Amino acid sequence: DIDIPESHPRYLSLLTRHRIEEGVEEGITSKQGLIAEGRGEAFDYLLGETTIPSADAAERAAAAQLLLAEHPVLSVNGNVAALVPGEMVELAAAVGADLEVNLFNRTDERIRAIAEHLRDHGAEEVKGLTADGEIPGLDHERAKVDAVGIGAADVVLVPLEDGDRAEALAAMGKTEIVIDLNPMSRSARSAAIPIIDNILRAIPNVTEHARDLSASGASREELERIVAEFDREAALEGAEAAIRGGDLD
Ligand code: ATP
Ligand code: MG
Repeated sequence: DIDIPESHPRYLSLLTRHRIEEGVEEGITSKQGLIAEGRGEAFDYLLGETTIPSADAAERAAAAQLLLAEHPVLSVNGNVAALVPGEMVELAAAVGADLEVNLFNRTDERIRAIAEHLRDHGAEEVKGLTADGEIPGLDHERAKVDAVGIGAADVVLVPLEDGDRAEALAAMGKTEIVIDLNPMSRSARSAAIPIIDNILRAIPNVTEHARDLSASGASREELERIVAEFDREAALEGAEAAIRGGDLD
């Protein structure tokens, strides 16, 4: 990585920009990913670059939901791979989930580069290249998924996902966890569990919650209660209030 002093007041945002830039150079992230990064950064600035309490509650509910799942899948795109490759591998291990590369602007070359990048960070199996399944209601290239991966998943974590695809996945009946810094985006609004937080903070925190819940021997009933008590409207409103400078959070 480059030389940014950790004491710099905008350390995390500079590091993030650098990782995305590097991702583009390595053929992992698309140029569109640079634009998505800029949008995210603006929202994070407004949120105070911190995990607000309602986001932490969403991260705990996400951990419980992933632990309850029969077949959880974590979706990885070019921004996710550039920003948190090792953290995604750790979360997958903590909750027993599959990793699947799923791209909005799909090319086999970029899928292979991302799968290799994830393997460099400790992943064993990476799905996404078979693409023998389909999300109904999307045009052909946008619809492709692995039949035994996202196609067969009951719970999917889709960070930084496009709104159309997030809605189509939810319409398929999948329990959807979205990470997105914009609480007004369709992606966040279509999720059963919207996490309004930077993926850099969100993924390690979901993993930590999952490990705590496992270590404390939480029962299925307890995990189900955590999911049931989670209030998605409050999570969206809490983030919007924080952005508008209200004090709901
Ligand atoms: P729609 O409104 O249909 O949901 P969109 O215009 O939001 O689509 P994109 O620009 O592709 O579509 O979405 C990128 C999203 O990812 C933005 O909402 C942005 O806030 C979010 N984002 C970018 N970087 C991060 C990050 N590091 N952590 C969390 N979310 C991020
Ligand atoms: Mg969006």
